[in-house]
Amino acid sequence: MPSSDYPHREYFAERLLAWYRRGKRDLPWRRSRDPYHIWVSEVMLQQTRVETVIPYYHRFLERFPTIDALAAAPEEEVLKLWEGLGYYSRARNLQSAVREVKERYGGVVPDTKEDIATLKGVGPYTSGAILSIAYNKPEPAVDGNVMRVLARFFLIEEDIMKPGTRTVMEKLARSLIPDGEAGDFNQALMEFGALVCSPRSPQCLTCPVMERCAARHEGREDDLPVKKKAKPPRPERRLAAFIEGSGEHAGKVLIRQRPQEGLLARMWELPHILVEQGAGTTDDEAMRLLQGRLLQDETLDVLPQEPFMHAEHTFSHIHWDMQVYRCRLASADGKTGGALPELTPFHYRWMGHEEMEQYAFPNVFVRIFREAFKQG
Ligand code: SF4
Repeated sequence: MPSSDYPHREYFAERLLAWYRRGKRDLPWRRSRDPYHIWVSEVMLQQTRVETVIPYYHRFLERFPTIDALAAAPEEEVLKLWEGLGYYSRARNLQSAVREVKERYGGVVPDTKEDIATLKGVGPYTSGAILSIAYNKPEPAVDGNVMRVLARFFLIEEDIMKPGTRTVMEKLARSLIPDGEAGDFNQALMEFGALVCSPRSPQCLTCPVMERCAARHEGREDDLPVKKKAKPPRPERRLAAFIEGSGEHAGKVLIRQRPQEGLLARMWELPHILVEQGAGTTDDEAMRLLQGRLLQDETLDVLPQEPFMHAEHTFSHIHWDMQVYRCRLASADGKTGGALPELTPFHYRWMGHEEMEQYAFPNVFVRIFREAFKQG
C-alpha cells in the first residue's frame, strides 16, 4: 500500500526523535560530521556490533585521518587495521571508493545519491546513512534493523528478504523523515532497533511508541519481521599445516599469501588444503593427506608431526572446520626447513613471532598463532 496509508507516521517519528534526543549513546562517530568519518563508521558497523567497532574506529582514523591518508596507504596496512573485523572486502571496497573520491571528486565525499551510489561498496543503506547523517539530506537508511522496527510498528507481513519489501520499506522510511531532521531521525531508528525493538525480546514495556504499535496490539511482535531463512553456510573441512622452520628459520612458521582474487584475497594464512567432507577424520589419515597434497612441488615435502589444534570459522556462506597439525618441511636432499616453494600459486614466507604484526591474517589464523605462540 502507498506510504501515506500507513497510520501514525507522525506520532512514530516525533516520539522516536524525542526518545533519541533524551538518551542517545555517546558514540565516537556521533561527535563528527565529517562524511569520511561517518562513512568509515557505517562500513565497520555492517554485521558488527557497536562495542566491537569502537576501538577499530579509533585506530583506523588515527592512522588514516583523511581521505588522502587512506587513499595513499598500502592495502596490506589497511587490512592489518581491519584484522578481526572480518568481511575484508568491506575494507578493500572502502579504500577503492576513497581513491575514487580523491580522483573524481577532489577528495570531497559526494552529497548526491546519484554520485555516491556509484562508489564501490556503497549500497543504498550506506549512501542513505552518509547523506542523512553527514549532509542532513532526507534519504532513508534502511537495513535489517530498520526493517524489523517498521515491520513491527506498521505490521508489515511481507518477507523482508524480498527486494520488493525493501522498496516498500524505503518508501515508508523516507515518508517518515521529519523536515530538516534526517540525520537524527535515521540514527534514532537505528538506535531504537539496537536498544529497544531488538531482534529477540523487544522491550515493549518501556517502548516510547508502544501505545500505537500494531504488532504489539496484535501480540505479533515476536513473529515479525517475516524473514525466509537464508541457506546455512556450506561446511568445508580443511587441514592446515603449522610448519616450523629449523636452522636459520628456527622459531619461525611458514605462511603463505592467498591469491589475488576470491575469498580473503591477498591475505596471509597457514598453508592448508580442502578435503572432502568425511575425509581425514582420524589424525593418521589427515596427516597422510597433508603430507601428500600440501605443497605441489616435487622438491619439497611436508612431514606432519602431531595434531596441534582445532579451529572453526564461519564466513557469510562457508563454514571452515579446520584441523591443524604441527609439521616440518623437508627438501629432497633431506635437509629440513630450508628453501621455499616457488612454483605454487601462493607466495610463501617464514614468519617469526614478532613479525606477526606485519601481515594481515583472517581471524581464524590469528587465533591459531596466539595459541601457538602462547605454547611455544
Ligand atoms: S512496542 Fe515492542 S514491537 Fe512495538 S515498536 Fe515498541 S519494542 Fe517494537
